[in-house]
Amino acid sequence: MKVTDHIKKANGNTLFSFEIIPPVKGRSIQELYNNIDPLMEFEPPFIDVTTSREEYVYIDRDGLLDKKLTRMRPGTVGICASIKHKYDVDTVPHVLCGGFTKEETEYLLVDCHYLGIDNVMALRGDAMKEEKYFEPTKGGHPYAIDLIRQIQNLNCGEYLHEVVETDHCADFCIGAAGYPEKHLEAPSLKTDLKRLKEKVDAGADYVVTQMFFDNKKYFEFVKQARAIGIDVPIIPGIKPIAVKRHLQLLPPIFRIDLPQDLIDAVEVCKDNKAVRIVGIEWAIEQSKELKAAGVPVLHYYSMGKSDNIKAIAEAVF
Ligand code: FAD
Repeated sequence: MKVTDHIKKANGNTLFSFEIIPPVKGRSIQELYNNIDPLMEFEPPFIDVTTSREEYVYIDRDGLLDKKLTRMRPGTVGICASIKHKYDVDTVPHVLCGGFTKEETEYLLVDCHYLGIDNVMALRGDAMKEEKYFEPTKGGHPYAIDLIRQIQNLNCGEYLHEVVETDHCADFCIGAAGYPEKHLEAPSLKTDLKRLKEKVDAGADYVVTQMFFDNKKYFEFVKQARAIGIDVPIIPGIKPIAVKRHLQLLPPIFRIDLPQDLIDAVEVCKDNKAVRIVGIEWAIEQSKELKAAGVPVLHYYSMGKSDNIKAIAEAVF
């Protein structure tokens, strides 16, 4: 079932959902299940599975370093199929421009269609670790909007290289990313919102936001989005702070600000166990306020750990 249909069916009640990361290759999917199991009591209608783009690894060959391109966390679509089957829940694979040709994207989408996956999150992806700026993959898309157009074409039965199969159209519900504190490369929030509107006009059915720690930023973002005609659901993304180093890591990676009260509360913590409690309490307060404001879904970035998300869900749902 589509994310947008889950929202309609909820009839104004706020839903709970979360996002997981595939394990590093070679590890067991059981690790994921162990973290999903405790969250199923909160009845998530859908679970997102991220996609990591390729990266360079260096292999020591008798003192000479061999540079190889590899994907450390493959398996997004397989994991989606397996979770869907095991828990009878909808899954949302993240589909990236970066690292994929249009043909590879088409094959991935065909797999999703065969597997009965109804939703995809269409993203550009970040620059590779070695790159300063995002470089489109040869034969791939430069922006998320181009990926959204490809998915929409499939929804109309139009495949690459002029193959048309209008009797067997896909019907993907498409998610797109939004940034309450603007995307790091965007010259201004206004321009970024214009780009978001273009993604929605191209076929994005709903938006999930980048993490934010100050609800005012989300409310203002939604207000500005509505003012320029973005009328699809805007789902807030919540991440609980879990370690002290997040104070330094999160702002430059995601170009977000942290509220001073949160920084102060984390700084006085003696260890990361105490930080985790502060992170949970902050996310509970954020979630309660967002729920009271009637957001359609509270979407948690679990980063593969469920204990803190469970504690938040217990307090909010
Ligand atoms: P776009 O919408 O293409 O925007 C990228 C930048 O280009 C923005 O600054 C935008 O303003 C600008 N822009 C857009 N269109 C145009 C245009 N036509 N001309 C000029 N400028 C333009 N990353 C992963 O690698 N894997 C994941 O699984 C993943 N999941 C995510 C989930 C969510 C909810 C969010 C918010 C982000 C996620 N990301 C993920 C990160 C995302 O890939 C990065 O933030 C990336 O840098 C931008 O992706 P986008 O889809 O927003 O890109």
